[in-house]
Amino acid sequence: MNHKGTRDHEPYLQFKNCRILVDHELIWEDLWCQGGKIVNPEKVFFDEKVSADVQIDCHGSIISPGYIDVQINGAEGVDFSLETENVEAGVAKVAKKLLQHGVTSFCPTIVTSPIKKYQQILPKMKRSEGSLNGAGILGVHLEGPFISEGKKGAHLQEHLKTFSGGFQDVLNVYGTIDDTAIITLAPELNNSSEIIKELVSRNITVSLGHSVANLKEGEIAVKNGASFITHLFNAMLSFHHRDPHLVGLIASNKIPKDQKLFYGLIADGIHTHPAALRIANLVHPEGLVIVTDAVPAMGLPKGKHTIGPQEVEILDDRAVLAGTNTLCGSIMSMNECVKYFHKSTNSTNVAALEMASLHPAQLLGITDRKGSLEFGTDADFIFLDDELNVNATYIASELVWKNPSAFKLTQQYRSES
Ligand code: ZN
Repeated sequence: MNHKGTRDHEPYLQFKNCRILVDHELIWEDLWCQGGKIVNPEKVFFDEKVSADVQIDCHGSIISPGYIDVQINGAEGVDFSLETENVEAGVAKVAKKLLQHGVTSFCPTIVTSPIKKYQQILPKMKRSEGSLNGAGILGVHLEGPFISEGKKGAHLQEHLKTFSGGFQDVLNVYGTIDDTAIITLAPELNNSSEIIKELVSRNITVSLGHSVANLKEGEIAVKNGASFITHLFNAMLSFHHRDPHLVGLIASNKIPKDQKLFYGLIADGIHTHPAALRIANLVHPEGLVIVTDAVPAMGLPKGKHTIGPQEVEILDDRAVLAGTNTLCGSIMSMNECVKYFHKSTNSTNVAALEMASLHPAQLLGITDRKGSLEFGTDADFIFLDDELNVNATYIASELVWKNPSAFKLTQQYRSES
């Protein structure tokens, strides 16, 4: 039955029998949507005096804003940094798969690459709204090539760059930064202050990472507008009590009052020990953003796979270079990371959910659209059980994925008069 066009307003959807995440709490309340947005039911009752056109029984589910993953390199065998011919198809394949992990939008991440690759890939990686076809794209995350040789991790040294020519270097390398959400750079590179200010003035989130910076260099970068730390603890100098390096930023008293510092954590228990998750959570919970940093091996079955130039072996909970113990990136989904974080830090379920939804939206400055269930925002949300398993994913109030073994979702339509 197509209800559109049969009445003088777009249909109102009423999600019933649910606990919704509002103002840092779960409350038993119905959630109302219209035209892909969350709406204020009081206005519906009192101003328009209409009842819901569709009622959905949520069977007591928790409803949380959809997850936002700001650092993901690929999945299902697709490596965003290696695609050149089939960029759109690769992104679309991953975007579709992310729906089952509760991810409603994300930032495809490109690691340090040859200049030619950026110029091939970036024009094809556009911001887009999510839909039944997949999670939305909020802009790319460019991780490198302006990073430190000393903490390059898996990034290829031959492609690393510096800012010797000023901001023009940034444009020369990437070609375009129109659809860029985040750039990860090392703040100890010469000219980084000028570069950070320029990027921030263009509304690009500057993240500090793959860096040997000391705390002071990190603090200067934050004063210049950097607002994120890339996978805290990984690819940076370790915390030292005389110079805590970038890790110390989460406890710094030199962050300007009007600025909020966020940091990504790979909450898989492998790349970040649970004790490190607990420390970060105790020190600076309101800046914590759960990221997967997932690699193309995520979502592939156990066993050996060839991904780009690498032979990768997927074991129970990790991916290694075949025949070695060398980790080659995270393969835990966002939903599993949230569950792991929740369990290992003993945080409330609300806190864990907000670290994967509200906080990344705050980081990107998009809370008017994403990251909460406030009236007027996009109706991107997920149904979860009390163990935080995702049972259904909605984008713009449309059901885009459902766990086939969960409860039956029933939609009741108001009969036409
Ligand atoms: Zn990295």
